Amino acid sequence: MNRNDQIRHVVIAGGGTAGWMAAAALSRLTGNGITKVTLVESDEIGIVGVGEATIPPIKTFNAMLGIDENDFLSQTEGTFKLGIEFDGWLRPSHSYLHPFGAYGHDINGIRFHQIWLKQCQSGFAVPFGAFNLCTIAAKLNRFARPSRDEGGAMPPLDYAFHFDAALYARYLSRYAQRFGVSRIEGKIKHVELREDGFISALQLENDLRISGDLFIDCTGFRGVLIEQALKTGYEDWTHWLPCDRAAAVPSGRIDPLLPYTRSTAQAAGWQWRIPLQHRTGNGLVFCSGYISDDEAVATLIRNLDGPQLGEPRVIPFRTGRRKLAWNKNCVALGLAAGFMEPLESTSIHLVQAGISKLLALFPSCNFSALERDEYNRLTALQWEQVRDFLIAHYKLNRREEPFWRACSDMGIPETLRRKLGLFAGSGRFFRYEDELFVEPSWTAVLLGQGLIPENYDPLVDTMNDSELQRIMMNMMSAVRHAAENMPAHADFIRRNCASTRIKEI
Ligand code: FAD
Repeated sequence: MNRNDQIRHVVIAGGGTAGWMAAAALSRLTGNGITKVTLVESDEIGIVGVGEATIPPIKTFNAMLGIDENDFLSQTEGTFKLGIEFDGWLRPSHSYLHPFGAYGHDINGIRFHQIWLKQCQSGFAVPFGAFNLCTIAAKLNRFARPSRDEGGAMPPLDYAFHFDAALYARYLSRYAQRFGVSRIEGKIKHVELREDGFISALQLENDLRISGDLFIDCTGFRGVLIEQALKTGYEDWTHWLPCDRAAAVPSGRIDPLLPYTRSTAQAAGWQWRIPLQHRTGNGLVFCSGYISDDEAVATLIRNLDGPQLGEPRVIPFRTGRRKLAWNKNCVALGLAAGFMEPLESTSIHLVQAGISKLLALFPSCNFSALERDEYNRLTALQWEQVRDFLIAHYKLNRREEPFWRACSDMGIPETLRRKLGLFAGSGRFFRYEDELFVEPSWTAVLLGQGLIPENYDPLVDTMNDSELQRIMMNMMSAVRHAAENMPAHADFIRRNCASTRIKEI
């Protein structure tokens, strides 16, 4: 590449979670002495400030930045997450966990859940969760990081984090600025376009003009660059993911400190509960066609487990995605790229995935259309795969309220219809092109939502039943034993990553 074609200035618009994640990851570009990274944020507008639960790949992002996990958790009031408990999603009083990590081990190349399905049909009635370490540890309220010599009969544990979103943005902001990113405070009032439609500069209300080669739009739902300036367009998914508002409020910390997120179905949506070291994050995601903001806030408050802290905030949103995540010389990340509601805590991950793809396809000033198309193709695929997983939770409910009836009656994308059909027949599952949620996740949610396959893989019949039952009993007791030997979640945090701001947790 000609040195003159090199991107010299990356401008990030927006300093929420997405903006600072991008800034932290792109700060490494400044090492060559040629490329500059500048982030513009507006204190007056602020950040959305929710988004406190993550999924396991965030550990890869932290590792890429060289972040010390204990320091990160202590500074963001973070806790560990072993999965999500879904209460009342199939019907009231029913509950299941979508844990991280595998269930059992495949045997002779045959999927463990297929073996379990056959044993169930022969009356071997052990719950599927008994073979998953995160499930049992979560039930016992225990946590420990997986040890290197784990293995043998036991499936490995995996984990993610809960953290305070505002503290996370601040943590990454310090990191990025330490590694050379410049921060400018100010409100963007105008986006300058060149004749070919590419962005040339941002004009701020304080009369600063910031020119650049590559622009990253992290301005949240506003999409100041990608939508307001470039008119990229939005693909609406509200007919499949109909919730369009969230009411959020923190409450006091409650004991015991649970190592998982709780999602409780309510009459016209669902309520999250996210345990942090210093408080609990709560929110009701709901569909405005079925309840008003006032009713939603009343439901949220009625179902808090601890004392309410502060006033509830209502956040409107529209599920869907930007038609092009990368348009001209602008890449949208975070809420500017779209939103699929927080049911499986995927938004922060999609920011991370967008950054990884951008680094893999980092452009020159020539902006290859082929590379841009590849970025957009991969992004669309990943968003659609996550979308299908979320829709499955709604589609398979058997609740009676009008909102839930409408969800079970709705049409679904062909890609999901095929997936559900394959699973309902003989528990088959195929992972397509780097799909984020893999077999254990789909199996947990589909079984949890009551989709029990009619049959099992006929290859299981080639194996000896009593031998299989012996192996399964060994797995089950290894899982139980490992979980029982872990410390309580709060004790683990106290010893390893207690907040520097609070003494007692
Ligand atoms: P924002 O936080 O809105 O930041 C936008 C930034 O742009 C701000 O700095 C703002 O000042 C700046 N800005 C905007 N306009 C201008 C302007 N004109 N000039 C200058 N600056 C400007 N994700 C998860 O992974 N897990 C979760 O559990 C989760 N829960 C969520 C719950 C809800 C109800 C919602 C709505 C989202 C949730 N998310 C979750 C998503 C998560 O909050 C976002 O992905 C994440 O916070 C990223 O937000 P953002 O940085 O894109 O936008």
